[in-house]
Formats: sequence, structure tokens, C-alpha cells
Amino acid sequence: MVSHHFVYQLVLFALIWLFIILHLNRPKCPVLAPATPTAEPEPLKPKRHRSNVPQPFEGLTHKPHCALCERENAPPQAPPPVPPDPMPATNRRPREVDTSRHFCPHAGCHYRGWLGLGNLRANGHPSGGPWRQFHCTSCQGYFLETHGTIFYGKQAAVELIVRVLACLAEGLGIRATARVFEVDANTVLSWLVEAAEQLRAFSASFLCDLHLEQLQLDELYAVLRALKAGEISDDEAIKRLERSPYWVWTAMDPKRKLLVVVDVGSRTLAMAQRVVHQVTQVLASACIPLFLTDGLKDYGTALLAHFGHWMQPERRQDKGPMPTPRWMPLPEWLYAQVVKSYRRRRIVGVKHRVVFGTQLAIEQVLATCGWTINTAFVERLNLDIRQRVAAVGRRVNTLCRGEEGLLAQMVLFQTYHNFVVPHASLRQPLPVAEATNGGSAKVWRPYTPAMAAGLTDHVWTLQEVLLFRVPPWPQPQTV
Ligand SMILES: [Zn+2]
Repeated sequence: MVSHHFVYQLVLFALIWLFIILHLNRPKCPVLAPATPTAEPEPLKPKRHRSNVPQPFEGLTHKPHCALCERENAPPQAPPPVPPDPMPATNRRPREVDTSRHFCPHAGCHYRGWLGLGNLRANGHPSGGPWRQFHCTSCQGYFLETHGTIFYGKQAAVELIVRVLACLAEGLGIRATARVFEVDANTVLSWLVEAAEQLRAFSASFLCDLHLEQLQLDELYAVLRALKAGEISDDEAIKRLERSPYWVWTAMDPKRKLLVVVDVGSRTLAMAQRVVHQVTQVLASACIPLFLTDGLKDYGTALLAHFGHWMQPERRQDKGPMPTPRWMPLPEWLYAQVVKSYRRRRIVGVKHRVVFGTQLAIEQVLATCGWTINTAFVERLNLDIRQRVAAVGRRVNTLCRGEEGLLAQMVLFQTYHNFVVPHASLRQPLPVAEATNGGSAKVWRPYTPAMAAGLTDHVWTLQEVLLFRVPPWPQPQTV
């Protein structure tokens, strides 16, 4: 008698053998042989694999719009006024006080707003005050050297105003500064706003015709009231803030650490355009730096409006209509994005994306500084801003909740950063002859970003900056 076990095993073996034979004899199955290139698994693979090779940019049929460009082009600009002839030299003894940085402020005077034309004479310190008086020999008017500055007509001591502003520039909030110096908080705010107006003109008079090799652009959010460690996620916070006006936009030259543009506004295309437009205003006309931004796609549109040109594509056939012209990026222009991913407010990944130009060309620009694609410097700057601008960095009960107050603080920060605070990475070794210690150790000369960019030859004090009077119109170049 045959056991059941044996029968079952026999049947099992038979079945396995049958499967093996069937499998070996079957024509090649697409599902089981996906690796073989000869099999074309078309019916089972309806999805086409997206190529990793980036498609070439085909250009735009419309030039991207920039509101600020159009505003500038629209009205015919009034020609700048013509400077009068310098005052003839007199027989009086030569003037001892240098008046070359001052100009007559009196309306109706031919010499109003012109530097170094010899129309000014120092006239002592009226009633023993701290400021010198000047006399204009053209209009016979008198004015103080503080005319047009924050110190003009103030009862408060110069030192107090300078220290209050220095405190704000170092990152103390408005209310805290007011407490330290026992001044009314609204007074502090009004000094800040007044100083910012002056500093904006100061920066504008220096930051022009810049020749920069690269620029990093970034935005950082300010005054995160709802974001207290872990209350809401970063993504959520950014989503919520996307349309709020509290974004600080910065553009900096990473090589010289020069803060070229600061602005405050929403995180929108219109703001990206405003920032990029301001950047193009400070650059020399032929200068096309390498741009590095974060992944915000509005930068691409805004930059393309300023660094593009019309191209006529070739006809595909001999006859037929010409294809529409295309707005294309300038061939020499390089633009890359640095896309960061965050987890718990820390950067966990960085990806590079070359938008215009080639990877090789971009790497060559960066290699001159020994760098790779990054936005590390602007990140570092953002950290500085968070430390030095109270309204951006912390949940402070600050007075300047509005865009205007925040912008005033940023303008103060910009001037302070560029002209007043020496940057450690920019310092230069003093020549041995000038070093006082006999050359035994290296002596460093402090350098500010403005010095590194060749805009000035010395480290400014905040008081010097606040006393600087910007003439109302561009001056003729003196040799
Ligand atoms: Zn005058």
C-alpha cells in the first residue's frame, strides 16, 4: 500500500517540475526581465522617465516687467544743474579750516549744494558751542556745520544721540536703549527714523558704480511672534509669513562682505524685482556679477528682466514667417540657486542648481576665492542681522513693528556694517615699517567692507557718518 505521504510528495514534485518547465519555455516576460534592453515593455510602462538633463532655456516672448525700470524710463529726466565757476582767490590770508566737505544750504544761492568752490569761510564757534559756523561769500549767509544732519537744532548732547544710535546698531531694542539712557522711547524712535533717512543718502552716495564678481541674495523673516521653540513648524511659519510684510531682503558681496542692498517687504515677485532693481542701480554699467540666491523662483524672473536681451531665433525652414523674438539671458551672465532644506530650523541639506550659465563657468568664478557654490556668507550675515537688529532677531516688545521702523533699523545696520565695524576676515597685515612693535609679530590693520571695496580709505566712526552731509546732486569729478 502506498502511503498518502508519498502520493502528496509526488504530486508536489510534479507540480514544481511543471512550473519550472513552463517558466523556462515561456517567451521572455517583460515583467520579469526589465533589465534586458531588447525587451520593450511599452504597454506596461506608460510613464515616461523624466530626463535628468536640464532642458535648454528657450527664452520668453515677453520681457519680464519691472515697475521701477518703467518708472525711471517714463519721465524725461531734468538735466543736472551746472556748477558755477569757483570763487576767485582773495588777498586774505589762506584759510586754515578745510571747507571742502561742506556746501552752502541756502535756497537762492548760486553755490548751493556745490562742494569745493571756495565760497565758504569758517567763522568760529558761535557762543562757544561745539559746532563751527560757516559763512558763504556768495550769498553772505551763515550756517552751522551740522546743517542738514541729525544734530542740527537738537537740544540733546551729540554724544547721547551717537550712543543711542550705536546701541540700536549693536542690537539693543528701542525700549531697552531708551531705558539705558533714560530717554523717552518715542524720542529714540524719532532719532532712528531721522538718522536712517540721512544714512540712506550716505550709503547711496558711496555705493555706486560697483564692480563686483559675485552677489548673494537672501531673505529672512522678521518678528516671528507665533514661532516660539516648537510652537509651530518652520514650514508653517514661513507659509503664514509668506504674505506678511516682515521679510528682510539682503544682497551682499561675499568677497568684500559689502552689504549692497537692504529692503523690507513681503516675499513676493514684486519685492524680488524691487531688490534686484536696486542691485542693478549700484552696479557699474558693464558689471555682470555671478548671482547666488536661494530657491525662490521669483529671483529668476526679476534677474532675467535686468540681465537679458532679445534674440531672433533662426527659421526652421528656408521659407515661412520668422519666429517670434525671444528674451534670453545674457550669454555671459551666471546664475545659480542654493536650495537648502531645513529640519527644526537647522540646515540639513544643500542642493545646487545652475540656472543660467554653466557649472564650469560658475565654479571658475568661485575658485578665484577658493570657494564652491554656497550662500554661507549671506547666512553668516543673516546671523549678524538677527543679533544686531532687535526687531528681526528676537521676540522683543519693539516699537518698530511697522515696515518703516524695521527698514530704518536695517538701514542703520547696513551703514554700521559697511563703514564702521571692521570685519575680521578682511584685515590686512601692516607693512613692517609701519608696525610699532618692530615687526616681531604681525600687526593687522582693521578693514571694513567699504574699505575692501575701495569706497573709502578709513574706518568711520558713527559720529563721522552722522555728520557727513551728502550734496543734493552729483559733484563734478575732481582729479
Ligand atoms: Zn550761499
